[in-house]
Amino acid sequence: MITEHFDVLIVGAGLSGIGAAYHLKTLCPGKRYAILEGRGAIGGTWDLFRYPGIRSDSDMHTLGYRFKPWTEAKAIADGPNILNYVRETAAENDIDRHIRFNHQVKRAEWSSEDAAWTVEAEREGGERVRLTCNVLMMCSGYYDYAGGYDPAFEGRERFKGDIVHPQTWPEALDYAGKRVVVIGSGATAVTLVPEMAKTAGHVTMLQRSPTYVVSRPAEDAMANWLRARLPAKLAYGIVRWRNVLFAMYFFNSARKKPEQAKAHIIGMVRDQLGPDYDVDTHFTPRYNPWDQRLCLVPDADLFAALKAGSASVVTDHIETFTETGIKLKSGAELPADIIVTATGLNMQLLSGVDYVVDGETVNFAETMSYKGMMFSGVPNLVSVFGYTNASWTLKADLTAEYVCRLLNFMDRHKLEIATPEKPAAVAEAPWLDFSSGYVTRAMEKFPKQGATKPWKVHQNYALDLLAFRFGKIDDGVMAFSKRKAKAAAAPAPERIAAE
Ligand SMILES: Cc1cc2nc3c(=O)[nH]c(=O)nc-3n(C[C@H](O)[C@H](O)[C@H](O)COP(=O)(O)OP(=O)(O)OC[C@H]3O[C@@H](n4cnc5c(N)ncnc54)[C@H](O)[C@@H]3O)c2cc1C
Repeated sequence: MITEHFDVLIVGAGLSGIGAAYHLKTLCPGKRYAILEGRGAIGGTWDLFRYPGIRSDSDMHTLGYRFKPWTEAKAIADGPNILNYVRETAAENDIDRHIRFNHQVKRAEWSSEDAAWTVEAEREGGERVRLTCNVLMMCSGYYDYAGGYDPAFEGRERFKGDIVHPQTWPEALDYAGKRVVVIGSGATAVTLVPEMAKTAGHVTMLQRSPTYVVSRPAEDAMANWLRARLPAKLAYGIVRWRNVLFAMYFFNSARKKPEQAKAHIIGMVRDQLGPDYDVDTHFTPRYNPWDQRLCLVPDADLFAALKAGSASVVTDHIETFTETGIKLKSGAELPADIIVTATGLNMQLLSGVDYVVDGETVNFAETMSYKGMMFSGVPNLVSVFGYTNASWTLKADLTAEYVCRLLNFMDRHKLEIATPEKPAAVAEAPWLDFSSGYVTRAMEKFPKQGATKPWKVHQNYALDLLAFRFGKIDDGVMAFSKRKAKAAAAPAPERIAAE
C-alpha cells in the first residue's frame, strides 16, 4: 500500500542525510522531502560506533559542514561531540520532524511511466510500508550496518575470554587491568590501543603488516586563535581552505614522490619512538603512502602509550586462537583476556537495497559512475559517497548542492527524469584506486569509473567544486525527459498533505 509521495526521499540520517536535508531546505525550499532512517537515532556512524576513544581521524574543519562552523577547541574530535554536532544541525534547521525512524529501506523500484521511485521500507516488527518519490538520495554510508568484517580465525571457538568487534562494542565491557589484544592496524586499532591502555593491564596491537601513522595536534592552534578574533564563519572558512589545500598538496606530492613522502612519515615516527624502537618492522608499510588511507593519531597518543610500555605492537600472522590467547605463525604466543577484532568493515554500496528500473534489476557493477554520485542508465538516483583522501563531508556537501541545482534546473525546464547516459566507448577503471582489504573485497560489486569526466571519480575537492557548483547541468551526458505515456490509465500515487 502506497501511503505518501515526496519530491525527494533521503535514506539515512547520518552526517550526509542531515546535510542533504539542509541543502534541500535552503536551495529548494518548495520541495517536500522525508528522511528514512533504519535505526532509531540520528548520527549514523557517530551514533553506531561506541568503542573507547571513538573519534574522527580527519579534522572537523573539513569533516564539518560548509554551512555550520565547528566551534569546539579540538579539531580531531571525539565521537560524542560529532554526534552532538549532527543532532544540533538537525534541530536548528527543523530537520528532525522530517525523519521517519526505524524505516529500513529494502527495495526501490523505478517507473518511467510515473517518473517515480516506489520505496519499500521495513518498520519494527517487520511491517512494510511503501512511499514514492521523484528523486531518491541514498545517504546510507559505505558499509554494512548489520555487522563488521570478521575473518574466520582458526580456533576462535576455543578462546575462553571475550571476543569483541568494534562495530558492536558491548557497553558493559570491563577491561580494567586485563590483557587485551587488538587485531588490526587501521584507524580503529590505533584509536583503541592508546585509549584502552589507560586502564587495561596491557594492550597489544597485533598486525599482519604495518600502516602509515601520522601524528597531529588534536587542537588546531591557528583555528582556535582565529576563532577568538574573527566571526566564527570567517575563521572556519579560512581554516577549512587551509586544510583542504594542505591535504591536496600532501596527497599529490606523496603520489608524485612516494619515496620522499615515505621517508618523511617514517622519520617522524622514529623521532617519536626513539632510535631503539624497531620502526622498520612495525611502522614501515610495504605499500606507498596513500595507496591506503593514512592513520592519524592526535597528540602522538599511540606513540606515548608505546613509550610508556602500557601498549606494544606485534607484527606477525595468526596461526590459531587458543584457550588463553593467540598463537602466532612465528611460534610466539600472546596471552589475552579480551581479543578485539578491529579487522574492519564490510563495505557496501547503496546499502544493499534491491533496485529495479522499469522491471529490470539493476546490477551496479555494470553501470558507470557519473560524477561519483549517479549511475549510468539509472534515473533520478543519487548516492552520496565521500573522499578517500579527504573528509567525507566535503564531497557530501557538494553532492547535495549539485542535486539542488539539478532539481531547480529540471523545474525550470519542466523536466522530470535525469539519467546519465553512458557513452559507447570510455575506458573503465575501478571505482576506488585503493589497495586496502575492505576496498578490494568490495570493488567487484561497485560501478566502474571512466577515464574522463564526468565519469571520473575525482578524489579532489577543488576539481569537484568547480564541476559541481559551476559546471553545466545539461552537459550532453545527462539525458533529460518527462514521464513516459502510460499504456493504460492507472491510478497515480496518492498525495497527502505536506510535511
Ligand atoms: C569509526 C569511523 C570513523 C570515521 N572517521 C572519519 C573521519 O574522521 N573522517 C572522514 O571523513 N570519515 C570518517 N569516517 C567515514 C564516515 O562514515 C563518514 O565520515 C560519515 O560519517 C558518513 O556519513 P553518512 O551519513 O554518509 O553515513 P553513515 O554515518 O554511515 O550514516 C548512514 C545512515 O544511513 C542509515 N541507513 C543505511 N542504510 C539504510 C537503509 N537501507 N534504510 C534506512 N536507513 C539506512 C544508517 O542507519 C545510518 O544512520 C569514519 C567511519 C568510521 C566507521
